[in-house]
Amino acid sequence: MPLERKLERKLLWSGDEGYEQARRHAVWNGRKPARRPAGIVLAEDADDVAVAVRLAKERGLQVSVRAGGHSTSAAGLREGALLIDVSRLASMDIDPLARTAVVGPGVLGQDLDMALDPLELFFPHGHCSTVAVGGFLLGGGLGWNWRAYGPGCVLVRAVDVVTADGEAVRADESQNSDLYWAARGAGPGFFGVVTAFHLELRPRPAVIKATAHNYPLAMRGELLGWLHGIRHEMSPIVDPSLCVTQHVARSPDGPTMLLGLFAFADSEREAEEALAPFTNAPLREKALWRIDPAAVGGMQDLTGVDDLYPAGLRYSHDNIMSNASASALVPALDAALTSLPTPRSHVNWLNLAGSPELPDMAFSLLGDTMVELVTVWDDPSRDADMHAWVIDHARRLEPVTMGNQMSADSMASRGLGPDAYFAADALSRLEALRDRWDPDRRFVSFLLGRDTV
Ligand SMILES: Cc1cc2nc3c(=O)[nH]c(=O)nc-3n(C[C@H](O)[C@H](O)[C@H](O)COP(=O)(O)OP(=O)(O)OC[C@H]3O[C@@H](n4cnc5c(N)ncnc54)[C@H](O)[C@@H]3O)c2cc1C
Repeated sequence: MPLERKLERKLLWSGDEGYEQARRHAVWNGRKPARRPAGIVLAEDADDVAVAVRLAKERGLQVSVRAGGHSTSAAGLREGALLIDVSRLASMDIDPLARTAVVGPGVLGQDLDMALDPLELFFPHGHCSTVAVGGFLLGGGLGWNWRAYGPGCVLVRAVDVVTADGEAVRADESQNSDLYWAARGAGPGFFGVVTAFHLELRPRPAVIKATAHNYPLAMRGELLGWLHGIRHEMSPIVDPSLCVTQHVARSPDGPTMLLGLFAFADSEREAEEALAPFTNAPLREKALWRIDPAAVGGMQDLTGVDDLYPAGLRYSHDNIMSNASASALVPALDAALTSLPTPRSHVNWLNLAGSPELPDMAFSLLGDTMVELVTVWDDPSRDADMHAWVIDHARRLEPVTMGNQMSADSMASRGLGPDAYFAADALSRLEALRDRWDPDRRFVSFLLGRDTV
């Protein structure tokens, strides 16, 4: 049977009814790029993926992939490619005794929570519960409690992959180990389609405690200086972030600084001890308000991050990773913190210090701090300005930047190359593996500036 017929109504060529809807749906961001794939395959299983890759080969098309569509630059949407939408590959097969799961790339963080919580199991998915594991894990995945676990991809034990020839293979430590190496961090530079991730699960922390302090923006130097200064001493079971925005606290007077702290502990006492440096900090007396440490019922209660990122709004996003001292980083951030262009726009400071050493895998570059710059708006006429604000402030941070975390796909807009994401030897190895696994360049690679027009 011709390959096209095998896919039947799951294949939409440009111009077909339903194509435009599928094209727009492929991008979570309310800002939809004009790029038009030649066709879109709404795959339902790994066989559909394999047929789609062979069809692309037959037609001389490149292949791109999307899972949850959260790539801010819509890295999966490529002009003239065959886009394989794997969001329907969302099965979860959990073995509670072995503490393992086999999940499809379309599984969302919230799906994992719903399935794992009753089994007292846990997986560190993205902080926003609508991010899919597909792009999250391929890009490394800095999820909940990541300072204790490391990036989520460390807990990937194997991947099922459709290769450039349309063949389905398993990759793990003992077979196709170089493909396994690449699947843990290559992100949009991966040269295959992952149809399943084999995950190692963690026991659900016995106690999850959260606390929040809201500080006036005028305290930014003092607060950030203190927080950044103690980043290496914070307990590894604390997941801390400082979000500067008007939106979360709904302050009528402009942005405030919301310090959110989560402790993932084995006992009440361990959680209290981990949060003590914050609950006892002298600075807390200057907070506009505080929520004292309280137990969180389950991961489903941690929806604060989702409130920052409703679907349908327009987003631009960049980040930097830094090893700079407080005296260098804090002044460098001042211009961004004092010029947020809309109430929902925000700057996040995240502590990455103290995580376990990275194993040998493509995900290889990690600073001790990450700063995210995010603009959020709804009026399309502001697109250029909102994007320019992000790029401008990311550029101003370049003197304190040691790399970028792939989630923002920042390289496309700032003209950066993949060396922003990888240690030099890891990038060389990745490109050598691309030659081996995808010599004809069936798969698109990193989204570069020239691809975005
Ligand atoms: C609101 C929001 C919150 C976020 N929070 C976090 C966070 O807490 N931590 C974090 O680390 N990141 C976070 N991110 C970034 C996010 O992890 C990345 O953007 C990730 O790529 C999204 O995965 P996705 O599958 O939803 O996106 P997609 O856009 O579908 O995928 C991104 C790219 O990954 C590749 N890809 C995806 N699936 C496959 C597959 N099965 N096979 C081959 N290639 C594939 C493709 O190249 C695709 O273009 C967040 C992003 C947003 C928008």
